[in-house]
Formats: sequence, C-alpha cells, structure tokens
Amino acid sequence: MQVKVAKTAGFCFGVRNAMSMTEAEIAKRQDAVKAGGQESISGRLCTLGPLIHNADVIRRLEEQGVVVLDAPEAALPGDRVIIRAHGVGKAVYEKLEERGAKIIDATCPFVSKIQKIAEKESAAGNTLLILGNPNHPEVIGIQGWAGRPCLFMQSPDDEIPEEIRKNPGQKIVIAEQTTFKIENFKKIVEKFKELRYNLCVYPTICSATASHQKEAEELASESDLMIVVGGVHSSNTRKLAEICEEHCPAVCFAENAEGVQEYLRTHPDIREKIQSGTIQRIGVTAGASTPNYILQEVVNIMSENFGEMLQEDLKDLHPEVHPGDVVKGIVVQVTDNEITLDIGYKADATMYKDEYSADSGINLKETVKVGDEIPVIVAKIGDPDVLVSHKRYLQNQAYFELEEAYKNHQVLSGTVSETMDNGVVAAYKNYRVFIPASLLDIHKIDPKTLEGQEISFRIIRLQRRRNRIMGDRRSVCFDERNARREETLAKIEVGARMEGTIKTLMSYCAFVDLGGIDGMLHISEMSWGPIRNPNQLFTVGQKVQVMIKSFDPETRKISLTAKLPETNPWNNAEEKYAIGSLVEGKVVRFTDFGAFVELEQGLDGLIHISRLSDHFVKHPSEVLEINQNVVVKVIDLNPEQKRISLSLRDAVAEEEVPEEEYVEEEVQEEEIPAEEITEEASEETVEQ
Ligand code: SF4
Repeated sequence: MQVKVAKTAGFCFGVRNAMSMTEAEIAKRQDAVKAGGQESISGRLCTLGPLIHNADVIRRLEEQGVVVLDAPEAALPGDRVIIRAHGVGKAVYEKLEERGAKIIDATCPFVSKIQKIAEKESAAGNTLLILGNPNHPEVIGIQGWAGRPCLFMQSPDDEIPEEIRKNPGQKIVIAEQTTFKIENFKKIVEKFKELRYNLCVYPTICSATASHQKEAEELASESDLMIVVGGVHSSNTRKLAEICEEHCPAVCFAENAEGVQEYLRTHPDIREKIQSGTIQRIGVTAGASTPNYILQEVVNIMSENFGEMLQEDLKDLHPEVHPGDVVKGIVVQVTDNEITLDIGYKADATMYKDEYSADSGINLKETVKVGDEIPVIVAKIGDPDVLVSHKRYLQNQAYFELEEAYKNHQVLSGTVSETMDNGVVAAYKNYRVFIPASLLDIHKIDPKTLEGQEISFRIIRLQRRRNRIMGDRRSVCFDERNARREETLAKIEVGARMEGTIKTLMSYCAFVDLGGIDGMLHISEMSWGPIRNPNQLFTVGQKVQVMIKSFDPETRKISLTAKLPETNPWNNAEEKYAIGSLVEGKVVRFTDFGAFVELEQGLDGLIHISRLSDHFVKHPSEVLEINQNVVVKVIDLNPEQKRISLSLRDAVAEEEVPEEEYVEEEVQEEEIPAEEITEEASEETVEQ
C-alpha cells in the first residue's frame, strides 16, 4: 500500500500569512510579559471570528490567550483585533475603529483584490454578480465593499437572477469567491455568453485553490481511496472532497487523525480492502486551513493501522530545499531593505534588497506587493535563516538562455553598450557578449556605427567560469541576406518593376541591390539619352526604380533597365513635334552632314547641313556652336525609326519679318498728316 500526499495539501498562502501575523503578535505579547509583567500588555489579542477553519488550531490559539470575537461590537477599547484571511466589509472596519480597537489586517491579498473590484464596479453603477455562497464570510465581506446588494449564483444549474433577465442589455460584472470551483465558473460564464449578455468577467479564483483542486483531481483519479483532511466548515475543503468523490471510488473526509480513525472504524469494508490489497493507493489532500502537523498525524494513524504494509510518500509535507534550488516564493512582507517570502519551507525566507535587483535605487515597497509570486534561488539554508535571491535567479535564467542558444545556434539580440576598434560588446540581460570586428557584418564595417543599436547575434563561445561569451553577427547577416534574396528571387521575372539601391558604380554600369541580390544596370540602360559616366545620374545608396530586362535562373544573373516605357521621350512625339512646328533645342554634336539638336533627353533631331542656312555651309560649326540653344522647324518625323528632321534655315525664315511689311511700318510711323505739321509749326511760331 502506498500513501501519497498532495504537494499543495495544507495551508495556503493567505492562511499561512494570517497564522504568521497572529503568531508574531503572540510572540510580541510574550516578550512584553517577560520584560514587564502581565500589566505591561494593554488590551486583548482577538480574532474576528475563528482565524481558520480548524478547531484544533483555534484551541491552541485560545490557549495562548487569543480571544475569538463573534462581532465587531464585542471589541473593547485597546483590543488588537486580527481580521482573518476571508476579510470583512468596510462597515466592520469602521465599527472596530469606533470601538477604539487596533486593527491588524490579515485579509488575504487575493480577497482584497475582489473587495476593490466590488467597490469600484458598484460605484460605477454596474450590476455585480458574485459566484459563490452568499453566506460565506468572504462573500459577505465582499458584498460589504459593494455598498449595495449583489446578485449570486452558486452553480451552473442555478437560474440566472431575475434582475439580470429583466434587463438583458445591462453590463454584468462577474467576480468569484476565491474558492469557487473552476469548472462551475467556466460553465456559468459560457451560459451567459451563449445568451449574449454584456459581460465583464474578473477571474478571481485564487491560484492556490485552483492548483489544490487540480492536484486533488489528479491524485483522486489515480487513487483507490482519498483522505481529505480539513474542517467541515471550510468551503475549500468541502470542494476538494466533492472533486475527490467525482474521481475516486472511496473518500474519507475527516477533520483530523481521529476523524480518519473513526472513518476506518465505521467502514470495515474499506479496512478489509486495504488489508487484502484491493486498495493499494491512498491519496491524501487537505484544505487550506489544515496545518502540516495534522497531515502528519493522519499519516501516522495509517501507519499505526496498517504498519508494515505502508510505504509513505511524505517528503512533500516539509519539502526539502537546498542551496541552489529554484523555488517560487509568495511575498509575505516588504520593508525598505528586505522581502520576506513563503517558499513552502518550514521557515520563511529573507531576500535582501540587493539580492532582489541590481538597481540599488529601487524602492522595494513600491515595486513588490504582499501576495506577489517571485521565483528565487535558495542562497543559504541556515537555522533559522533562509536566504534567497531573485537577482541570481534572473542571472541563472539568462545564462540558461545563453546555453540553449549556444547549443541550438539560436539568434539572440542585445544592445551594443561598448564599441572598440576590434569589436563591440552587446548586453544580453546581465551578460556581456563580445563580438569581434571580423564577425560584425558580411563586409568590414566600423564598429562605432553600431553604438547603441539593438543587434542580433549567435553565441559561438561560452565560458562561464572565465566569464567569456563571444558572439557572431556575421552569420545572422548572411542568413538575413539569404532570406531576403530568396524572397526577392520569387518576385523576379522579366518586365517586373522593382525598387533597388545603387550599391556600386563602375565606369560602364551600376550594381543595384534588389534585396539580397544584385542586378546589373548597364550605362546604356540608365537613361533614354546618352550619358558619359553613371555618376552623372547616380550616387551610391540612391534609390532607383528599375525593370527586370533579363534573368537567368541558373546563373542568377539579372540585367536591369531604368528606361521605363512611360518615360520614353518618343511617346506622343507626333503631338509634341508636329511637322511644321517650331521647337527649341540645344546643339549637342556636329557631323560632316549636319548638326544634332537635343529636343529633350533621349530625343535628338538632325539639321542637315543643307538646312542650316540660305548660304553654302561647309561645316555646321560655321553657323552653330555646341550647347547653343536654337529654334528649329520640324520638317519630318518618323517615330518608328526614331528620326526627326529639323531645319534652322526654315525657322529663321519664318521668324524674319517680311521686308515690305517692315518698310510699310517705317513709313507709317514717319508719316505725319499735313494739318498737324501746320498746327505744330504755327504753335512754334506763337511761342517764339
Ligand atoms: S485560498 Fe487563496 S484566497 Fe483564500 S486565503 Fe488562501 S491564498 Fe487567500
């Protein structure tokens, strides 16, 4: 027979916290008595209601002088009243203060969170639906923060409250009692969703409860008998028992060891099955209010009854922790310089500020809250000190990541924090990764250009002891370029338009980066007009629109052209250079048979030597100069053959004013009517 105890069995964080606070108060009072006698203590130490659902624990506390109050009205001035993990409504705090009592608030942070939700949502005028037992102290407390009546559902079989059904458009805010069964929560929410209600759901089931329930279900499924230990008034223990009943043929629900003994006495069939070996696997779980010593007693009872048959599996009752272990701690207390954590060990652990963070200016109280879960490394197990470190945990995590990345050639990223002539240092979490200059890029680059940049790299050397970590960015650049290249190649086809970047300029061509792959742009394809050198048009790094002219998939040779059809100067040439029209151009070159005039880039026309002048011209330079702007007449146009014939002589003739008209105008201007002459002459005579 094997007895297996659930790892999560027993005190949850909230209960342990309330117990620690109470025990600390008891210790303070005992110290005060030792120092100054009984009179030195003013007021009683009280709990409002039983601190936890365990009669045995309550009896022990009472023996140490703790008084259980039924109601806040029972508090006396000067009493120190502990609010238990369930929490209470706002009015109860006010009543206690009114009574002159000092409040010690041990409300579980998970419950406080629901109280705040209730307060906020009610103040906003929203309808609050609480999934849980309206008579449970935790739920009564939550309702006390809402300040007005809430609605309740306890199971998916419950009808949706009438107030909601009557007004289906209203916003329904759902919060759950921390110990509510997670399966029921899901079913209820699903029910509301199916009916398309306007929902706002706060998942407030406590993770301790959820993991208790999950583990109980798993353990129950593999056990022949489940023993559930806890108070009959404990809601979470009852739920554990319900879950176990669903998954295990026999369940013993007992408050303590005597209860288990009683069960065995009243269930001879179970005893017999254990003795005959029909029941071989016994699972033990316990509610959140069950202390470990009661669990231990339960196992002892089994041992007494079934002695030699028993193989115990009890190590989880007091989990062993060793220096170097990674554990999760729940924050119990935060001061300016240290954090106290519950790590599930018999003693709480301490973490000093400099072991939490490398940032010495950090404000612990602002950063860390009671109830937070923090992964830590156990640094020291002393008696009684247990020291833990979150900073070392983070460092270890980062190192594991580096190790994984090193083994699997994964790419990491970090920010360049230092640059030197021979490389850069990139910060990866708390580690420095040196990347030599030769491994910074595909081509040689100046390390300074990476200053402050986030870069990607692989780890190629890892020596923790010597604190040497070397990275390689070059291989990542290669991979990125190859990936870009494949992506680009998939788009490449003759006629495709692409944007590229001028990468290299040569005397006869330019190489254009199309995205991981280069194409060649020959000088003759750079412009519709002739150019002498590519640098007349381009500079390295310039963006350029190109078209694929040819592509050989085998050799991956790509030829480009920047002569896009829509920019062809011969487009609409008939309209722009209609025969008979006068156009302007620039003389660009001479030949023996005439002069070429550029009308626009890429479109030159010829003035035949016979069309240069009325007179005989032996060479065009007699009439024109290179770069001279001229007006010429279009006398012929052949767009197919890309020929345009021009005439300077005709243009000049057309621009010249006919001689007879000129003479006529001269005459008209000089002619003065005879009477005016006479008049002017007579005026001149009078003046004289
Ligand atoms: S069960 Fe969860 S919510 Fe309740 S007291 Fe424990 S930790 Fe807090």
